[in-house]
Amino acid sequence: MDKSIKIRVQSIKSVFHHAKQATMQIQNLVRKNIQNLKPYSSARSEFSGTASVFLDANENGHDLFGEALNRYPDPLQLAVKQRIAKLKGIPVESIFLGNGSDEAIDLLFRIFCEPGVDEAITCPPTYGMYRVQADIHGTPIRQVLLTEDFQLRPQAMLEAASPNTKLLFLCSPNNPTGNLLDPAAIEFLLRYFQGIVVVDEAYIDFAEGTKSWSQRLAEFPNLVVLQTLSKAWALAGARLGMAFASPEIIHYLNTVKSPYNVGLPTQRAVLSAFETGLDGTVSTIIAERKRLEIAGVGFDFVEKIYPSDANFLLIKMEDSALIFNYLKQNGVVVRDRSREPLCEGCLRITVGTPSENDRLLALMAAFNSSTIQSSNP
Ligand SMILES: *Cc1c(COP(=O)(O)O)cnc(C)c1O
Repeated sequence: MDKSIKIRVQSIKSVFHHAKQATMQIQNLVRKNIQNLKPYSSARSEFSGTASVFLDANENGHDLFGEALNRYPDPLQLAVKQRIAKLKGIPVESIFLGNGSDEAIDLLFRIFCEPGVDEAITCPPTYGMYRVQADIHGTPIRQVLLTEDFQLRPQAMLEAASPNTKLLFLCSPNNPTGNLLDPAAIEFLLRYFQGIVVVDEAYIDFAEGTKSWSQRLAEFPNLVVLQTLSKAWALAGARLGMAFASPEIIHYLNTVKSPYNVGLPTQRAVLSAFETGLDGTVSTIIAERKRLEIAGVGFDFVEKIYPSDANFLLIKMEDSALIFNYLKQNGVVVRDRSREPLCEGCLRITVGTPSENDRLLALMAAFNSSTIQSSNP
């Protein structure tokens, strides 16, 4: 921990001198029915050995389409996990794989939140799925807004927590604001919040020089780190999300998930992507992000471009609705975030390929000169 972070943690601690360091047992946070759950035992998980004739799973033994998709896939995706373990330096027992990281978010509510009783905390403006999943599961949500510069308010968050607050969602780099959250605040919450702290790192690969919280799982039994192959790994269509946590939490995720939650085409696509690698596209995207930022500040209608450690920019504009529609009419679709708290007048624009970004900048330049002309006839 560097010195400035240490000082911040100490100053937060002194404000919260009465907060007790979290000493919770994970099992006590888990819903009773899940603690007692006897999970479905699939044919593929009951037999582990070598055989030449599989008559145990009611599959069609004919490989009719020549893709070898007629057999159920490995329910625990061991081959993929072994590659991820190597790539990230995380033991296989601490890895859960799902149908996008959205599946892991869903399962965390199922494991920890008794509907109508247990609660979760989110910090808007942030990723919308935390609230949607809470609503689906009948989980009351307490929202503690980020500060004006999109940082956490850790004291206010602890004050918002009740004994029934089981889940805390932090997103770093945050969507839609693009910034990393102060690690001192995250560490404080990991130590003092008496529940599960989910750190969503969907955009971590775009934050140069930033270490993942997954490297600190051993220190924090209540930490769940989410990552995904949908963003930097260019596999949004394949659907593969990852949760990294203590083996105990991973055990519950595996108990609650549906038996074959990651299809064989996805497992194959992911293994082959790891063979190929990212081929420099992440550095290209980061360089393009800088190019868009520099060009963007030159436009009169741009009021502010927020600093980004992700693959998108949050841009505050004079008339965001007008620009949103102008871009749309010209075939470029961006995300209107102007109705999110603290994001008034803001569009979120994904950094595309160089030619996609050229198109965006050309349209913005044309819009800029047309508004200058109309205001100076
Ligand atoms: C895109 C995104 C995800 C979703 O990832 P999937 O793996 O595609 O489900 C999760 N969290 C955040 C913050 C995201 O922006």
